[in-house]
Amino acid sequence: MVKIALNIKANLDNIEELKPCGPDFRWCVQFTCSNCGEKSDKWNYISLSDQVPAEHGRDVFHFSCKCKLCSRVNTVTILGDSVKSYGVEDLEKFKRIVVFDCRGIEPSNFSAREGWIAKAIDGGKEFRDVDLSEGEWADYCDKIQQPVGIYEIEHNFERIK
Ligand code: ZN
Repeated sequence: MVKIALNIKANLDNIEELKPCGPDFRWCVQFTCSNCGEKSDKWNYISLSDQVPAEHGRDVFHFSCKCKLCSRVNTVTILGDSVKSYGVEDLEKFKRIVVFDCRGIEPSNFSAREGWIAKAIDGGKEFRDVDLSEGEWADYCDKIQQPVGIYEIEHNFERIK
């Protein structure tokens, strides 16, 4: 099993914190099978609130799939306490926001999609259900009377010990 961290970088405009909405947040990823190398182009949603029991033993996974090429069953567990937010202090750099415990597969791509919460600076509004499907998001906060936005989202994956 391999632990893979997802790191993101974004440009925040009058936003102090960007975070997943909670256990129901769905991480949207593509996987590559570590056994046969099959790089799937299917997008999969993985959520802490989806639990898949193991066929044997008592382990619980958050995602399980059978490789369509080699038929091996691969699983992923989200490390719940690894989920972090991205904030103004992280600007200009990548920050680790979640760690996946991967057995037999590794993530090859990530799409931010929906379900984010963004909090405006200076005690401004908390925007719920922020949609980053287009790679950016913009709105207006009437509390601080400023435009707010999230732009230039980038990601990478990192193998960790
Ligand atoms: Zn395979």
